[in-house]
Amino acid sequence: MVLLGFCIALLCVGTASGTQAAAPSPKQSLERRVPGAVGDSPEVCAALARAFPDADEFVPRVIALSEAQRAELKGALRSRAAPRLWSYREARRAGVLLGRAVVDDVIGKSLPITYMLLLSPENRVRAVEVLTYRESHGGEVRRDRWRAQFAGADASTALKLGSDIRSIAGATMSCRALTDGVRDLLLIADALHHSESATPAWTAGPAATSAGPLAHEGLQVREQLLMGTLLELRVVTQDRARFDAAADAGFARVAELESLWSTWREDSEISRLNAASVGQWCSLSSATLELVARAKELGGASANGFAMESGAAVELWRRAEQLQRAPSNAEIAAALEASQAGAFQWDFEGGRARRLHGSARIDLGAIGKGAALDALAREFEARELRRALFNFGGQLLAMEGPQDGAGWPVQIRDPRPGATQALWELELRNASLATSADDQRGGAIDGLRFSHIIDPRTGRPAQGSWSCSVLARSATEADALSTACFVLGATADSETLTKRNASRLVLEFDGRILRHNGFPGLAVTP
Ligand code: AMP
Ligand code: MG
Repeated sequence: MVLLGFCIALLCVGTASGTQAAAPSPKQSLERRVPGAVGDSPEVCAALARAFPDADEFVPRVIALSEAQRAELKGALRSRAAPRLWSYREARRAGVLLGRAVVDDVIGKSLPITYMLLLSPENRVRAVEVLTYRESHGGEVRRDRWRAQFAGADASTALKLGSDIRSIAGATMSCRALTDGVRDLLLIADALHHSESATPAWTAGPAATSAGPLAHEGLQVREQLLMGTLLELRVVTQDRARFDAAADAGFARVAELESLWSTWREDSEISRLNAASVGQWCSLSSATLELVARAKELGGASANGFAMESGAAVELWRRAEQLQRAPSNAEIAAALEASQAGAFQWDFEGGRARRLHGSARIDLGAIGKGAALDALAREFEARELRRALFNFGGQLLAMEGPQDGAGWPVQIRDPRPGATQALWELELRNASLATSADDQRGGAIDGLRFSHIIDPRTGRPAQGSWSCSVLARSATEADALSTACFVLGATADSETLTKRNASRLVLEFDGRILRHNGFPGLAVTP
C-alpha cells in the first residue's frame, strides 16, 4: 500500500474524540487508546510517549500537497521528489496542539532506515528517533548524542553534514541519509503548515476519484487512516449507535487485513512469505489464500496486466526513485525474471505457499484495498445498513444510494498536471469505482516522471494511459481490473469486463476519453 515514504506513517491510531478519565500515565494512555490499532509498533508508541508525555490523543492527519506547494519544494529537497501526500500524527492535549510526528524512510547504504521526526507546533525538531535500522554498518546513528544534534532545528537551519550535524566515521552514509531526510521533512512541514492552501486529502487529495460534498438528513461520517491512506465512511441512518458498531467492526476488519497483506509491515503474512528462504513453506490464513486465489483469477482474466507477482519489479522502481538512479537493463531483467507467476507455489489445500525464486515478492497493493472494501461492506450489510458509500483513498464502493431512486453523486478526478476540474461525473449505486492513474504515487528520476504501476510484461513503469477507471460489482474486481487497464490501455480486450458486467473509462494520453461497455455518467465540461 503505499504511496511515498510518508504514507507508511501508520502510527498508533488514536481516537479523535472522547473525554479522558483521570490522568493516566502517558504509557497507559497510549495503550488504552490503541487497542488492536493499525501499525502500532511498540517503538512508535514509546517514541510518541517520550516526545509528548502530556498528550491525550494522537490524531491521524493526511494532507495533500497542492501543485503550487510541490513546485515550491522542487529542487529544494535532497532525498526525494516533492511528495503528493503528507501523513502525520498530531499530538494533542484537551484539543490543544502539542506537536506533530512523522514516520519516514531514507535509504542508508542500500536498505531503508525507518525513523520518526517529532516536531513542536512551530515545526522545530523535538527529537529524531530511529525506529528500525537494517544495515550491518552505520548503526551509530541510533546513539542519543548524535540524534540530539537535531533538537531545535527548523526549516531555516541549513543542516549541513560536517558543520551543523557531526558525521560519524564509518557511518557517513547513514548520517547523511538521516540528515537529508530530516531536512526535507522540515521543509515540507514548513511549506504545508504555514500555507493557507493546505487541503485535506479527502477533498483535494491524490485520489483519482472523489465523492462530492453531500448533505443528507441522518448522514453519518467517520474516517480512519488505514493501509496508508484514508478510509472514509458515509452512511445514511438515524441509528448512530448501529452505525458506530458497524464502523468499529469494519475498521477493525480492515486493520486485520492490513496486518496480513501489507508489504510495509515486516510482520505481515505477505512480508513473511516474501522474506522466507527459497523452498520454505509458509502457512497462510484463509483470508490471504482467498485473496490470492482471486488475484490469480483476475491476473489471468486481465492478460496479466494485473499481476500480484510483480513485487520485485515494483520494489526495484521504488528503490530507484529513492536513490534517484534509474535501474540498469540487467537489474530490470533480473526483477522481471523474479516477477513471473512461477516464482511462487501455492498449496491451497494445505493452506501454505513458498517462494521458488530468491528475489520473488508478492505485492497485493493493487487489489488489497478493493478486497478490504468488500469486507467492510459485509459488516454494514450484516447490520442492515445499506445506504452507504465508502471512499478508500479514491476507490469507492457504494451500496444503496442515500435515498430511494438515487445513487451517490461522485466524480473522477482529472489526473493531468494543472487540471482544475474533474474529468467525469456519475451516480454510484451497488457498484465499486476504482481508478488507477498517473498522478497518485508515481516517481521521478531527473525530472522524468514514471508511474507506480509496473507493466508486468516489461518490468518497467506502465505507459498505457493517463488514467483508467473501472466500474464493477465488487471492489476487488474493480481494483485489480483498473490496475490492469492502466497497464494495457484502451487497447485491452474488453471481453473480461463484459463477462463480469463491468465497464471502463480511459483517459488517453492524447486527451481522448474512451468509454467501454456503457460506462455511465458524463464528462465534466468547462
Ligand atoms: P493501484 O493503485 O490499485 O493501481 O495499485 C498500484 C500498486 O500495486 C502499486 O503501488 C504496486 O504496489 C502494485 N502494482 C504495481 N504494478 C502492478 C501490476 N501490474 N499488477 C499488480 N500490482 C501492481
Ligand atoms: Mg488496483
